Amino acid sequence: MKVNDIMTRLEAKHPGESEYLQAVREVLISIEDVYNQHPEFEKAGIIERIVEPDRIFTFRVPWVDDNGKVQVNIGYRVQFNGAIGPYKGGIRFHPSVTLSSLKFLGFEQTFKNALTTLPMGGAKGGSDFAPKGRSQAEIMRFCQAFVVELWRNIGPDTDVPAGDIGVGGREVGYMFGMYKKLAREHTGTFTGKGLTFGGSRLRPEATGFGALYFVQKMCDEYHIMLRGKTVAVSGFGNVAWGAVTKATELGAKVVAISGPDGYIYDEDGINTPEKIAFMLELRNSGNDVVAPYADKFPRSRFFPGKKPWECKVDIALPCAIQNELNLEDAKTLKKNGVILVAEVSNMGCTSDAVDFFIENEMLFAPGKAVNAGGVACSGLEMTQNAMHISWSNEEVDKWLHQIMNDIHEQCVAHGRNDEYINYVKGANIAGFMKVADAMMAQGIV
Ligand code: GLU
Repeated sequence: MKVNDIMTRLEAKHPGESEYLQAVREVLISIEDVYNQHPEFEKAGIIERIVEPDRIFTFRVPWVDDNGKVQVNIGYRVQFNGAIGPYKGGIRFHPSVTLSSLKFLGFEQTFKNALTTLPMGGAKGGSDFAPKGRSQAEIMRFCQAFVVELWRNIGPDTDVPAGDIGVGGREVGYMFGMYKKLAREHTGTFTGKGLTFGGSRLRPEATGFGALYFVQKMCDEYHIMLRGKTVAVSGFGNVAWGAVTKATELGAKVVAISGPDGYIYDEDGINTPEKIAFMLELRNSGNDVVAPYADKFPRSRFFPGKKPWECKVDIALPCAIQNELNLEDAKTLKKNGVILVAEVSNMGCTSDAVDFFIENEMLFAPGKAVNAGGVACSGLEMTQNAMHISWSNEEVDKWLHQIMNDIHEQCVAHGRNDEYINYVKGANIAGFMKVADAMMAQGIV
């Protein structure tokens, strides 16, 4: 395989799908050597097959807003790769959603899910619907309209959607409600459900908690004490909230969170139950701003229009959206003496930022390893649903911890180069080998 040749062909076939092409290139560069040691992969066209989704559904989502006006959005479900299990991955409602972004997310999800050790294929879906400023009734009608179209293509052993940006417990509840009505079955077709109707304990916390378990393992590997370290987090949604909660519990001090409007710096730490709960209030307000934090806690400061990467901290955790940390930011982090960067968002860093971290042998881990705790907990929810039981907090947390440790171990096994661990390479090779082996065993399909 020659990465450049494959990329040239893909660029010609899918022009303008920049995020998808970025994600594919990153994986291909990591696996090139390993792939070339397996001529049977080349013969079976593994690369040509693995970079294309199994199938894509695109559909119109018409709905009526509170003023009686008809609105039309586009809905998608990208079933990327079903080699190792039923399709699994979240639904994103955000104005930035395009086919390219969902293809990148579905591609990443395939390898992430492989890393979790659970049998789940990769998928992603969503819509360009913008929940910001929409009423509860509008959100419900939109979710229902989305599922009226999607429901025939999903099922507990076919494709199991969940949440992502713009889709939390409330939206999953509405989508599940309509699914159940149309399919006439109460099965685990969605994860991230409410606890009273088949949801798993710890699912809302799992992405952030899992990320911090992973960060803890990175610290252990390099004999760094997490306790006492300062942390900058971007975002203030569900994932950021879980990360802040667990970082605080593990003795680190989170001093920054951010929103599309700028960032908050709180020198005292975002570390009291009141402050952490306020993040949820901000999110539930639906306004997508963090500025009110500084009004509520006057010892903190709001920096309008800025990113939290300019703060002098020990650890940086991008928790918001793809490509939110660029090369300039990466250089600033290095200059400020940051010792560890872990992507909690999917592809949170631009390619040149990732290259910069690796060239400078900085401790860096990619989203598909760090944030896999969310989908892993979804996998545990599927298991509980299939068994018609529910596990306690302790049981789920034990699994989550174990899975994150396993992912870390796989990254180290495939990414170690003398003293330095290239977590990007480690995660990509481990994920790829599992999916490729499954595809080899199943013939040309
Ligand atoms: N959207 C999350 C992710 O990016 C979770 C997906 C799921 O739980 O299926 O992995």
